[in-house]
Amino acid sequence: MPPKKNAEKSSKKSTPNGAIKSGWLPGIFEGLLGGTTSRVAGDASKRGTTSASEKSNSRVSSQKTSLITTRKSTQKSKPKIAPSIAIMKDRLEEILRHQQIAPEVYSARSRLIQTTVLQHSRAMADENFSATSVADLRLMSELYDSIYFDSSCIALAKHYGMAFRWSSRMTRAGGKTTRTVRRATLRRAAEIHYEITLSSSLLFQTFQDDSRPIKVCGRPCHHRLEAMQRIVEHEAIHLAEMLVWIDSDCAAGRFQAIANRLFGHTEHRHELVTQRERAAKLFDIRVGSRVYFMHDGHPVQGVVNRITRRATVLVESPQGEMYSNHKRYLKYYVPISGLKPSK
Ligand SMILES: [Zn+2]
Repeated sequence: MPPKKNAEKSSKKSTPNGAIKSGWLPGIFEGLLGGTTSRVAGDASKRGTTSASEKSNSRVSSQKTSLITTRKSTQKSKPKIAPSIAIMKDRLEEILRHQQIAPEVYSARSRLIQTTVLQHSRAMADENFSATSVADLRLMSELYDSIYFDSSCIALAKHYGMAFRWSSRMTRAGGKTTRTVRRATLRRAAEIHYEITLSSSLLFQTFQDDSRPIKVCGRPCHHRLEAMQRIVEHEAIHLAEMLVWIDSDCAAGRFQAIANRLFGHTEHRHELVTQRERAAKLFDIRVGSRVYFMHDGHPVQGVVNRITRRATVLVESPQGEMYSNHKRYLKYYVPISGLKPSK
């Protein structure tokens, strides 16, 4: 096991040149990387809870706090919800509680969504596309909305604020849905905003030449477009639950019952190829591996402490921070391809 850093404030001691940008993804995805403003737990099981520490505290709060804010502002000054919004919400709740889709209907709808997305996409060449865009993600989500949710989910979210995003920094969760609330002030009411983000890194690391069988949400996927659909289906339920009940948890029975009735999902996890798996398979590098890499023209030795988009390598140094084994280490962030296992 690699050493753990002692409890003290985190600070990046060293970031070698060339170790900042990893060249793992097709160039187009670098441009799709938005600023990460909020996150959901690694297994994506606690949706709707945004991390206040990663956001500006004055602007966005976690869901628990914001819930209170919303209630207060509703009591004081907010106008009553518009009738059309109330109708959409009732309709959405009705679908979530009772709709059941037969397997053959689900299959036909899946194929229809696939062909429609491919026909309209400017970036996707085929089902195993090597480029995509926010427009593709938005179109797919809207197709699901109109086919499964009677156009009452995305439309309802748009009434508040809805965005779609690809992230190359999400290295564990295949997707995430967030609900953020901007606190009410004396001058303006509270604002709610929804966002669905999909991991481009996981999708593009999977379905390469040596792909093993891949399941997402318990359903076998044969290409990237299918995997993307399963993730969008999963996130659509998170969004719909948040719109109706505010909280959404894919580890909970309610979520899993909906996912099974609508989409035949039997699990709430994915088996996409993670950076960890890829590092082990292609480079024989794991957490705890002793490695060396080139820094300023010199070989440097260290231990892999973490693998996300890049590897975090701890290198013993008197200038470093103290870790649980009472040794001092400097921290380097290195692309996996820049590491060699040391024998
Ligand atoms: Zn989930």
